[in-house]
Amino acid sequence: MNRPRVVVVGAGFAGCAAAISAAKAGAEVILLERMDFVVASGIRAGRMNYNGKLVAAEEAKALGAGDMFEALESIKLHDTNIVDEVNGYVYNAIIVEPTVRRLVEGAGVDMRLVNRVTDVIREDGRLKAVKVGRKGAVEGDVFVDSSGNAGGIDICTRYGGGCAMCVTHRCPTFGDRVSIATKAGAPEFVRRRPDGTPGTIDAALSLHKTSLDPVLRARLERDGVVTIPLPPELIDTERLYRIGGIRSQRQMESLNVVDIGITAKCVGNGSILPSELRKIPGFENAIIDNPMGVGKGNRINWVSMARCEADLRVRGFANLFAAGQKAGPLGGIAEVIVTGVLAGHNAARAAAGKEPVTLPRSIAIGDFVAFVGEMMDVPGGLNRGYAFGHQAFFERLKKNGLYTTDVSAIHRRVKDAGMTGVLAKKVV
Ligand SMILES: Cc1cc2nc3c(=O)[nH]c(=O)nc-3n(C[C@H](O)[C@H](O)[C@H](O)COP(=O)(O)OP(=O)(O)OC[C@H]3O[C@@H](n4cnc5c(N)ncnc54)[C@H](O)[C@@H]3O)c2cc1C
Repeated sequence: MNRPRVVVVGAGFAGCAAAISAAKAGAEVILLERMDFVVASGIRAGRMNYNGKLVAAEEAKALGAGDMFEALESIKLHDTNIVDEVNGYVYNAIIVEPTVRRLVEGAGVDMRLVNRVTDVIREDGRLKAVKVGRKGAVEGDVFVDSSGNAGGIDICTRYGGGCAMCVTHRCPTFGDRVSIATKAGAPEFVRRRPDGTPGTIDAALSLHKTSLDPVLRARLERDGVVTIPLPPELIDTERLYRIGGIRSQRQMESLNVVDIGITAKCVGNGSILPSELRKIPGFENAIIDNPMGVGKGNRINWVSMARCEADLRVRGFANLFAAGQKAGPLGGIAEVIVTGVLAGHNAARAAAGKEPVTLPRSIAIGDFVAFVGEMMDVPGGLNRGYAFGHQAFFERLKKNGLYTTDVSAIHRRVKDAGMTGVLAKKVV
């Protein structure tokens, strides 16, 4: 007997997590990705578990969906604390892509790289198939849109400084992002900066480690983090708003550099002229790794979101779910993984003719998914970013008593909610 088929579009962290989750639930899974590698934004990311992100990771494990978090912990490079972001660790970005790729393949997912979805086919009000350029159509019972909300070239040109030549998305080679939900007719939500400009500017940039002063580099590789107060003339008070206001003003007053293995990542900078960077002691010869056009801008994010229900079904669609940054103004690795595991599991349930699961609000992931959706309906709510480790949602976690670093308490909470192992269940 043929198993019900789930088609996942986009193999960033969200799509990979969704594909694994749907496969674990027993569905046949096809994962389509436009580039020739997985993890996308994650190849220059790395910072995990700080502030409330630990809660998300541990809840996911208790729910039976900890595979991706455990894989990332297995390639941990440093424990790290930076200003206002504590108790974190960094994974080794040199090996994150092959590590995740093996995890996805090991789950039995049919992963098809260099397969860019360009359109959808609808029949009787349902999604029937996605079109993959000239390669034809891929049919499915249920679909997950995890195509992200960053770029492509036209967006980065209209609302940023042009193509920033990021190594994470490589649009000139693989073509721009295409949103499946938008193609299917779902309203497309856009986040705006305070001056009304659509999208926000990516916060991260990274430097070749060998271009740093050797003493500074040795410190960075020993401690994992180096914090350097910026000279007053390099403190840009508007920067926080250009990058979406999710970080703290205090972070804007220093250069927070983290060793992610492959490069030295500068947290929360947005864009900076290499000539300005080189005024900072230790950075006199700094060479930018990503994005190469950071002197003029950075990648533009959050220009294509779908409004989802609390089970991550795209509002108004019976057989389309969304995950990761596509599913609302949420960002961060933990955040996109937890939406991925829920959307993937629910896609498999829907494909098997079962009702999707909604996680209770007594656990942080349940509250997060519902809250992000609700914020999309509140005036101005869409224009803020939500993450377990930052600002509005981190404050909410603390206020609701859901923030703790006590791992057994987090697992107990999931048990008390009757949800232990729920996302590991076979539904097909
Ligand atoms: C440089 C950088 C550093 C970061 N650092 C951190 C960090 O340290 N810690 C942290 O928590 N967060 C960090 N973030 C944020 C985090 O990485 C992202 O929020 C997260 O990885 C986004 O995942 P996603 O899967 O939703 O989207 P994406 O990573 O954008 O993935 C979307 C995928 O969909 C594919 N796609 C798009 N359209 C199509 C189509 N039509 N057909 C097929 N495939 C398609 C894309 O190619 C891509 O692979 C960082 C982000 C960046 C850019």
